[in-house]
Amino acid sequence: MAYRRCETLGDLAENGFRLLVGCRNCGHLRALRPASLFARVSPARNWAALRFRCSRCGGCDVMRSIDTQRTT
Ligand SMILES: [Zn+2]
Repeated sequence: MAYRRCETLGDLAENGFRLLVGCRNCGHLRALRPASLFARVSPARNWAALRFRCSRCGGCDVMRSIDTQRTT
């Protein structure tokens, strides 16, 4: 149920969730705060449609998921 309204970056931010970005090439995993992306990406954007590039190996085969554990 918690995923019901987590389609956009704004939804993630409201719920206090982070966006997990994992590289399938080298296994590099990052947890991004949605708010940190707002400067470049609209909060109305669907997070699943965003394209990321691995900061370690530069690979584009990146998976995205939601980190629902509030660690902050
Ligand atoms: Zn990588």
